[in-house]
This record gives sequence, structure tokens and C-alpha cells, in this order.
Amino acid sequence: MPPAVGPHAAVVVAWPEEDAYRWRENAACALLRAHEKAMFYGESRGDEQKAKAVCATCPVMAECRDYAMTGVETWGVWGGLTVQERRCIRARRRAGEVSQAQTVG
Ligand code: SF4
Repeated sequence: MPPAVGPHAAVVVAWPEEDAYRWRENAACALLRAHEKAMFYGESRGDEQKAKAVCATCPVMAECRDYAMTGVETWGVWGGLTVQERRCIRARRRAGEVSQAQTVG
């Protein structure tokens, strides 16, 4: 598992203290215990579904998804999307099939 620096990382390191990242302070996943956060990086469909269920309750899902869609996070569930789903959406955006507004939040 690559190191993660987001709100559901087991060890949070090196997030910029800029206003643009303040959303992470309200992240639903940040309230989970360390062993529970592993679901965001699980290999099973069950783990993905559990992580997505947490994201569905998260008050900052739109901000998180916007951040994740930049491609900076290359592993795990972010903003309710798996890495494969994020790649697919980015490809569809590049192809002009969907706009950013249609796929954020
Ligand atoms: S949307 Fe999901 S991954 Fe993003 S901050 Fe909320 S709970 Fe965490």
C-alpha cells in the first residue's frame, strides 16, 4: 500500500495548511479508528462498498472528490469513487463525454 496523506490515512502527514484543504477537518473518515480506515485501501469489493458507505455520509464528499479527481491519489476510495472509477471519469472528461460539473459532488 502506498503512503496516503488524506483524512482517511492511518498516519496523516504533510497536508498543506492552506484554506483549500480545510475540508479534510470535517471528513467522515477522519473519525474512524486506524484499523477501520484500512477499508479505504482494501482489495475486496466488500471493503470498497464499506468505504463508499462512509463517503455517502460525509459532509465534504464533493470537496474530497474534486481533490481526488486531480489524480493526486492513485490508490484507494476517495470521494466515494474507486481509483478505477476516477480513471474512467477522467477519461470521459478528456473525451468530452461528461463535464467536470457532471462528475463532481
Ligand atoms: S468523501 Fe470519503 S474519502 Fe473523502 S473525506 Fe469523506 S469519507 Fe473520507
